[in-house]
Amino acid sequence: MWIDTHCHLDAREFDGGGVAVARVAQAAGVSMIVVVAVERGNFDTVASLAHAAPNACYALGIHPICVPQARDEDLAVLRGAVEAALDDPRFVGVGEIGLDFFIPMLCEPAMRDKQERFFREQLRIARDFGLPVLTHVRRSQDQVLKHLRQIRPPGGIAHAFNGSFQQAHNYIDLGFHLGFGGAMTFTRALQIRRLATGLPLEAIVLETDSPDIAPAWIHPGRNSPDQLPRIGAALAALRGVSEDEVRLAAHRASLAAIPRLSRLIGA
Ligand SMILES: [Zn+2]
Ligand SMILES: [Zn+2]
Repeated sequence: MWIDTHCHLDAREFDGGGVAVARVAQAAGVSMIVVVAVERGNFDTVASLAHAAPNACYALGIHPICVPQARDEDLAVLRGAVEAALDDPRFVGVGEIGLDFFIPMLCEPAMRDKQERFFREQLRIARDFGLPVLTHVRRSQDQVLKHLRQIRPPGGIAHAFNGSFQQAHNYIDLGFHLGFGGAMTFTRALQIRRLATGLPLEAIVLETDSPDIAPAWIHPGRNSPDQLPRIGAALAALRGVSEDEVRLAAHRASLAAIPRLSRLIGA
């Protein structure tokens, strides 16, 4: 069975139908979907979605794109919510968090500082509770690596990875896994395809990031987690191995990246 390690099932593109979308994915062979939060306002939504769907779990965090409107007290709320969720088997980590130095508004000096402040405190929360982090890294590979080295959360995933081989190995050395999804299905995505082909298979986890990052066969439509098996097949084709080999390796890598998944699905 396949695992979608990064999904926004509560996104408005799914029109409140996230549970139905998860069931369709289950019928397509997706045994687990990790639903990430983006702001304080959707912590409860992702938690209840994860409980309502047969094959979903959740992470809590504040996404860099939501940092401009976030308040400092949201970090204390997050810490409290994470602590309260530790007994919840459907809760698996801290995310989606990170740094986005692509969107111009987020690159202004004061906003860069605020992003880094929010990112660092969320890394501390993950470290304090021994949880993996699910990170968003856009034009910020080396800055994210710097903060990871300084704060040292136990591990996690650099989602939608698009860096160099050197940076990929820096993440791996920090105990991280690298997330690949729809982007590698485009023939023009040369660097991502080189990475997906050349990195050790045990370092790779699969994701849809739905409703975003639609694979080539849907683009520019709405992505959904039932596409994960076909994305896995695309990785198998790129590497010249069987789909079974990719499925089993990605399953093991997902459990290694997000250890609490093993409470929900067998090894
Ligand atoms: Zn992201
Ligand atoms: Zn995301």
